[in-house]
Amino acid sequence: MVANQLRRRGIHDERVLGAFAVVPREAFVGSDQQDKAYADYPLPIPHGQTISQPFVVALTAAALQVKPTDRVLEVGTGSGYAAAILATLAARVDTIERFEDLANAAAVALASYGNVAVHHGDGTLGWPERAPYDAIAVAAAAPEAPPSLLQQLAIGGRLVVPIGNADRQMLTRIERTSETDYKRYIVCPVVFVPLVGREGWPE
Ligand code: SAM
Repeated sequence: MVANQLRRRGIHDERVLGAFAVVPREAFVGSDQQDKAYADYPLPIPHGQTISQPFVVALTAAALQVKPTDRVLEVGTGSGYAAAILATLAARVDTIERFEDLANAAAVALASYGNVAVHHGDGTLGWPERAPYDAIAVAAAAPEAPPSLLQQLAIGGRLVVPIGNADRQMLTRIERTSETDYKRYIVCPVVFVPLVGREGWPE
C-alpha cells in the first residue's frame, strides 16, 4: 500500500508514509472485509458510511503538515483508521462522530492509542473544550468550511476539508494566518459522504 498506492502517486512526506506503515488497517475494517483491508478504494461501514481510500487519508494528512507537538481535531471518526494515522503523527487527537454506535466501535478499535479521545456529537461545531487546534481534518463533504472550525484553529493552524456539492468536492486546505485572515488553496477533486450537521448539510 505505501509503495504502490501512496508513494507512487506523489505522497512524499516520510512521517505520513511511516504512519501508514505502522497502523494496521485490518484492525479498523469489518470481519467481512478483511480480504480488502489494503484495497485502493473506500470500504463500507454501517449507516451507509465509508472508510476513506488510503490515498485520500494520506493526502489529507500530508496537507495538514502535522507536527509531533500538534493538537489535532478530526470530524468524522467513522472506523477510527484516520484518527489512528493522525495519532501516530501528533501529540493528541480529538475525533468526533455523529453516529453513536460508530463512535463506540471506533473507541474500542483505538483503545491502544493513549493520545486519542473519541466523542459523539455534531462535529461541524468542533470540540470547543479542547480548542485551539493546530490541525483539523474534516472527513465528510461540506457546503463550506464550518465557521466554528475556522474559529477553533490556532493561528498558524491548518484545516483540510472537502468543499462542494453531494457529487463532487474540492479537498481544500485553509491556513489561519492571523486572528482575522485565512489563506486557502485547492488540493484536488474528491468524493466524500456528506457532512451532516448544524454548520454542514441538513439531515
Ligand atoms: N475518517 C473515517 C475513517 O477513517 O474511517 C472515515 C470517515 S467517513 C468518510 C465520514 C464520517 O463522517 C462518517 O462516519 C459520518 O457519520 C461522519 N459525519 C458526517 N457528518 C458528521 C458530523 N456533523 N459530525 C461528526 N461526524 C460526521
